[in-house]
Amino acid sequence: MVLLCKKILEHIGLNPDRLTIEFMSSGEGMHFTEVVDGFTKRVKELGPLGKGEGVDENELKSRLDAVTKLVPYIKLVKNEKLALRPEEKKYSELYTSDEVDRLFNEVISYHIDPDKCQACQICLRRCPVEAIIGGKNQIHVIDQDLCIKCGTCFEACPPRFGAVEKITGGPVPPPIPEAERAMTRQGKETRP
Ligand code: SF4
Ligand code: SF4
Repeated sequence: MVLLCKKILEHIGLNPDRLTIEFMSSGEGMHFTEVVDGFTKRVKELGPLGKGEGVDENELKSRLDAVTKLVPYIKLVKNEKLALRPEEKKYSELYTSDEVDRLFNEVISYHIDPDKCQACQICLRRCPVEAIIGGKNQIHVIDQDLCIKCGTCFEACPPRFGAVEKITGGPVPPPIPEAERAMTRQGKETRP
């Protein structure tokens, strides 16, 4: 996890040396002091977060916000690797910069096609984080700020509707305006 975090820091333009992890026992007081002193010295040399790397404060905030939102997604797609306990010499090869760049460039999003949604509420009931806005006879929409990209709605939407789309790496269409979400059943399939 620490190595992945270091690669993510690098990806957003921060020095990965700002993060470290050391394992030691409670009897290694001297070692603890040395590690903390060394790390404190290193961080001081790097300067304030962002400023030291020449990243504007607002830009840094938006990059950190974007990464924070993606944490559940990253844990989901890197689940297998995160569970690995490789030997130390192999650990440094676990995540490459290219892989982390790809992770962000090919991030998956989900969107509900308003022309296909039948307001059956199945996805709304199954979403683990209540990121789907909808109701009876209301076209459903996904709140992208809340969505953790688990894909449950994509799996749950009945194939005959196929209303949930998976978007890889591209922008997500804006949600249909609230005033246009009321469904007219004429010519549409009825609820299952
Ligand atoms: S992908 Fe998961 S979190 Fe996002 S809206 Fe669908 S069910 Fe909810
Ligand atoms: S499961 Fe599909 S059809 Fe049903 S409300 Fe969700 S997006 Fe619409």
